Amino acid sequence: MKKIGLKIIGILVIISIAMNAFSIMSYATEKSELNKKIKETKESLNEVNSQKAESEDKVEDLTSQIKEYEKEINSLKSEIEQKNKEIKEMQKKLDELEEERQEKQDLLDERLITIYENGETSYLDVLLSSADITDFISKYYMVETLTEADKELIEGLEADKKEIEETKNNLNESLKEVEDKKEEQEAIQKKLNKAKNQEEKKVEDLTAQSEDLEEDIEAYEKKMKELDAKEKAQEEALKHKIEQAQEEHDSGSSSSGGSSSKGFIRPVKTGSITATMYYSSGKYHGAVDFGVSVGTPVYAAADGIVVTSTWGGSDSYGYYIKIKHYNGLYTLYAHGSSLVVSVGQEVKQGQLIMYSGNTGNSTGPHLHFEVRVSPGGYSNRVNPLNYL
Ligand SMILES: [Zn+2]
Repeated sequence: MKKIGLKIIGILVIISIAMNAFSIMSYATEKSELNKKIKETKESLNEVNSQKAESEDKVEDLTSQIKEYEKEINSLKSEIEQKNKEIKEMQKKLDELEEERQEKQDLLDERLITIYENGETSYLDVLLSSADITDFISKYYMVETLTEADKELIEGLEADKKEIEETKNNLNESLKEVEDKKEEQEAIQKKLNKAKNQEEKKVEDLTAQSEDLEEDIEAYEKKMKELDAKEKAQEEALKHKIEQAQEEHDSGSSSSGGSSSKGFIRPVKTGSITATMYYSSGKYHGAVDFGVSVGTPVYAAADGIVVTSTWGGSDSYGYYIKIKHYNGLYTLYAHGSSLVVSVGQEVKQGQLIMYSGNTGNSTGPHLHFEVRVSPGGYSNRVNPLNYL
């Protein structure tokens, strides 16, 4: 029971140590991937938005076309209305004429019937009732004239009717033409409406896509802000850690344990110096190179705190380490094959920090060693040989 309890405490202590361990994560890869996503999404958004604008232009164009057709159709409608009205008027006139004709016809018929029924004016009657030939001719012509006049009147009415009928027929024909034209225009308008609806649907879809992309961008940018904040917090924590370590060092009585009178020891135990501040060609180098084979242990030149432990690029330092020392100087170890310590870690002089290699901008296995008066910038490099 007691043993188990101790074990648990032991595990808890280990966990708590692990949790307290200072660790620096690099957000560079994550950030660059995120930036790429943001860029791509913004490009997609631009594409979608320009498609949307195009569709909106089409909708606008179709709308104005449809309006034009609407105007045309409306004018045809009023034309049809007008023609129908005219046809109706013609019909009314026709009906009136027909009525008049019928009336006249009836009158004539009636008169003729009366003549026959009364026998007054039958030719024979007229002849017989005539006193003499003069009387007969006079009476005969009177009846004849009356009948002729009525007949002419009726014929005149029929001619009028015929004329109006023709006009009406012409009107009906042109009405048919206008109606056909209207139907044609309506068919085109219908097609345009269909096209407009399709385009509007497209605009709707593109709007939804655009909104989704905007949301994505917003989310990515939020994530980027979080990463920036984390990175900043990390930088702050590192700064604090460095300050704390510096304070502890300054107040502590322990020496740096350095064996060199100038503060730094050689970072490799073997290997000759193959280049100094200037190459033999005269070109500026800003460091000391030690000719060592790949995998040679590299040691911290003095006590300090690791401020960089990372991949510095294939055209640059390769795997490299930078340490801030308590005397305010920085040392840098480049072209390593593998890194042993991590950012924020306190190191002692002579502690293994890296294995040398041939990574980055390196023409052969060696350790590139710099001393700087400030962490950044090549101009802050000083001659390491002055400190070894
Ligand atoms: Zn070098």
